[in-house]
Amino acid sequence: MTRALVTGGAGFLGSHLCERLLGRGWEVVAMDNLVTGDLRNLEHLRGEPRFHFVRHDVSAPIPFSGALQAVFHFASPASPVDYVRIPIETMKVGSYGTHNCLELAQARQARFLLASTSEVYGDPEVHPQREDYFGHVNPNGPRSVYDEAKRYAEAATMAYHRSCGVDTRIVRIFNTYGPRMRLDDGRVLPSLVSCALAGRPLTVHGNGAQTRSFCYVDDLIEGVLRLFDSDEPTPVNIGNPREMTILHFAETVQRLMGTHLPIQFTPLPQDDPRQRQPDISKARRLLGWEPRVDLEEGLRRSLDDFKRRQAEAAA
Ligand code: NAD
Ligand code: UDP
Repeated sequence: MTRALVTGGAGFLGSHLCERLLGRGWEVVAMDNLVTGDLRNLEHLRGEPRFHFVRHDVSAPIPFSGALQAVFHFASPASPVDYVRIPIETMKVGSYGTHNCLELAQARQARFLLASTSEVYGDPEVHPQREDYFGHVNPNGPRSVYDEAKRYAEAATMAYHRSCGVDTRIVRIFNTYGPRMRLDDGRVLPSLVSCALAGRPLTVHGNGAQTRSFCYVDDLIEGVLRLFDSDEPTPVNIGNPREMTILHFAETVQRLMGTHLPIQFTPLPQDDPRQRQPDISKARRLLGWEPRVDLEEGLRRSLDDFKRRQAEAAA
């Protein structure tokens, strides 16, 4: 049986990944220090004998016994609100955390996959973003703790691959949304939904003309698994190329929630990327992957989950 370690397993993406790996019949160890994650994301897996949870900060050396064939390194704050709040922890998990995971993968001859990000492209001047674009990142602005940590993590991954022969994969994840995002994590979808559920105006930063391209979580995880199964060591973009302005996105959420609350324009955070859209030709060609879930369908599924969790919290 394949045994996998998922760091960040109690987070949004990590918990969905654990579920999918268990569905393959694998044994899964989720490791998380719960800095931005939540054990409730794993509650439904508790009775599963092939599933184990270990509370541990992966920026410290990783205690692990027994066989190991796969390491998925997903531990890291991912919301700008989170990583600006805990900048040192973010840099540590991208650097020490990545080294610790790579050392473990090397020692056990396990395949390693890094959850990298479209933030390695910064505020891109090339559009849409292809994997061979080196990016446009402010190296010392507030977002740099995340962007540069992930760029470093990519460099470390390629160094272990080239010089130590570790079998590695790098996925560059573009904005992904879906059930289990923390309602207070500050990312745009949970933020808009929290405003609407509390009867407050929906906050749009700047004039809302900046663009993003939103991928539903099930599509993203499918892309991650296809990349893991492939033999491609260089970075691959996984995201949904349907690009829209944030104002349009907020209006879509407003319409699907049936709310007439106004939109309130709030200051644009420093270095907020003005545009973002993945070029997914590499994923299409190498993995035969492309997203399937349309935005409105994905938003409906997410909204059902947000409303249910908010009602449970209120009760
Ligand atoms: P999340 O905050 O929900 O999950 C991150 C998880 O990592 C949390 O459970 C957190 O407690 C855990 N964690 C953080 N530091 C840790 C440490 N030192 N030791 C152990 N656990 C630690 O975020 P997410 O959206 O699920 O993101 C998961 C990964 O995917 C991150 O690496 C992120 O950079 C990457 N990513 C996500 C997106 C997205 O749109 N969701 C986009 C690009 C990249
Ligand atoms: N944003 C917004 N209102 C909010 C939260 C975020 O307008 O309440 C904007 C944010 O400034 C950015 C976009 O939505 O332009 C996506 O933000 P998010 O934090 O989800 O992800 P990012 O792509 O910036 O990492």
